[in-house]
Amino acid sequence: MALKNKYLIDLLETVKKRNQGEPEFIQAVTEVIETLEPVIEKRPDLVEAGVLDRLVEPERQIVFRVPWVDDNGKVQVNRGFRVQFNSAIGPYKGGIRLHPSVYIGIIKFLGFEQVFKNSLTTLPMGGGKGGSDFDPKGKSDGEVMRFCQSFMTELCKHIGADTDVPAGDIGTGAREIGYMFGQYKRLRNEFTGVLTGKGLTYGGSLARTEATGYGLCYFTNEMLKANGKSFEGKTVVISGSGNVAIYATEKATALGAKVVALSDSNGYIYDPDGIDLACVKQLKEVERKRIKEYVSTHPNATYTEGCKGIWTIKCDIALPCATQNEIDGESAAILVKNGCWCVSEGANMPSTPEAINTYLANGILYGPAKAANAGGVATSGLEMSQNSERLSWTFEEVDAKLHGIMVSIFNACDSAAKEYGMEGNYMAGANIAGFLKVAEAMKAQGCV
Ligand code: NDP
Repeated sequence: MALKNKYLIDLLETVKKRNQGEPEFIQAVTEVIETLEPVIEKRPDLVEAGVLDRLVEPERQIVFRVPWVDDNGKVQVNRGFRVQFNSAIGPYKGGIRLHPSVYIGIIKFLGFEQVFKNSLTTLPMGGGKGGSDFDPKGKSDGEVMRFCQSFMTELCKHIGADTDVPAGDIGTGAREIGYMFGQYKRLRNEFTGVLTGKGLTYGGSLARTEATGYGLCYFTNEMLKANGKSFEGKTVVISGSGNVAIYATEKATALGAKVVALSDSNGYIYDPDGIDLACVKQLKEVERKRIKEYVSTHPNATYTEGCKGIWTIKCDIALPCATQNEIDGESAAILVKNGCWCVSEGANMPSTPEAINTYLANGILYGPAKAANAGGVATSGLEMSQNSERLSWTFEEVDAKLHGIMVSIFNACDSAAKEYGMEGNYMAGANIAGFLKVAEAMKAQGCV
C-alpha cells in the first residue's frame, strides 16, 4: 500500500533512519502506519499531540550482559534485552524470547506489536518484550537454570507486578518461567505476580498453557462464522510444534477440523490420517525431541527436511504458529493455488508484506497476529487479576473469559474495518482498533 499522507511518509522515513539494521521492526511499523492513514486524516488532534511520533519510539530499552557457567565449568556470555515500549494503558506486558536469532530489532518489533495486541484484549496492559540470544535447545536443566538466574539477576531491577510483567515466548516455557520466578522471589523477597505463565502450584492460571492456541481457534472461528464458514470437516496445516501449535491443533480438532501437518525448525511431518496429538505432546512437552521422531511410530506419516515445504501441502486453512516471516510471497501464492482460503496467525508477524498482499488480493480470510494470537496475553492478564485477588479460577471460568475476549477482539476488528471503509480487512481493523485506545490514553496523559 503506497502512503499519500505527507506526515506519515516523513514519519516512516525517520523510523527507517533511526532504526537501521532492524528490518523486522521497520516491517512491523510500516504495516501499522500504512493502515492508519484514514485514521490520521480524520484525527488531526492525534498528530498535533505527537501520538504517532511517540508511539514508534520505545519508552525504554535495556540491554545487558548475561554471564553463566556451563556444565564443563566454562563461562558463557549471552546478551539480554527488555524493551519497555508503551505504558499508556497499563504496566508493560509481553513475553521473553530465548532463541539464537534474538537481537534488539526482533525484541523491538515484538514489543511494538504487543502494544496494539494488549490494547485489543480490553485489559489494562501496556506493551513490552524481552529475551536473549541464549538457545535452550541441547542445554541441561542445570545450564538453563543458571542462565535464567543470571538473566533475572539483572532483569529484576527493571520489572515488578505494577511496572512490567514478563511471560513466556519462543524458548521460554514453564521450566524457564519457574527458574526466573524463583530467582526474582529470592532477590526481592517478594511473592508477587511479577511473571505470568507460572506453574499451577505457585500462582499460575489454569488454561494459560492452552490460551494462545485455543484463542487463535476462537478468533478464527468467529471470522469463519462471520463469512458463513466453519472448521467442521476442513483440512488444516499448522506450522511449529511448540506451545501455540500444540494447543491450536487440539482446539481445531475439537471444532471438527483435521490437522494434517506440523513442523519444527528442521522440517515438517505430514499425516493424512490427522495428527496424533498425544504423541506430539509426549515428544515435544515431555521428551523434548524433534518432530521427525513422529514418523517412527506412524507409518502413514512422512517427514520432510526444511520448513518452507509445509506450505505446499493442500489445505483449507493455514495456521502459522512458528516464527516471523515464515510465509513469504512465494509460499502464499502456492497456498492460494492449492485452494487455501483462510490464513490465521498464531505466531507473531509470520507473513511477509508480499504474503499479506497475496492474501488480500485473493480474498483470503486473513486473521492478523495482533488480534488472532492475543489470547495468550489476555489470559496472562487474567493470571494477573487472580494473583492480585489471591484467588484462582477454574479452567472453565478462565476458558469462558478467554472465549469472550476473542469474540470481542474479532468484533472490534470487524467494526473498525467497516467504519474506515475497509470491510473484511481485519488487519486494518486490528491496527486501527488497537491504536485508538492507546492514542486516546497518550493524548490524555500529555507529552510524556
Ligand atoms: P515454542 O518455543 O513453544 O515453539 C516454537 C515452535 O516454532 C517450535 O516448534 C520451533 O521449532 C519453531 N520455530 C522457532 N523458531 C523457528 C524458526 N526460526 N524457523 C522455523 N521454526 C521455528 O514457542 P511458542 O509456541 O510459544 O511461540 C510460537 C510463536 O507464537 C512465536 O512467534 C511467538 O512469538 C508467538 N506467540 C506465542 C505466545 C505464547 O503464549 N506462547 C503468545 C502469542 C504469540 P524448534 O523447536 O526447532 O525451535
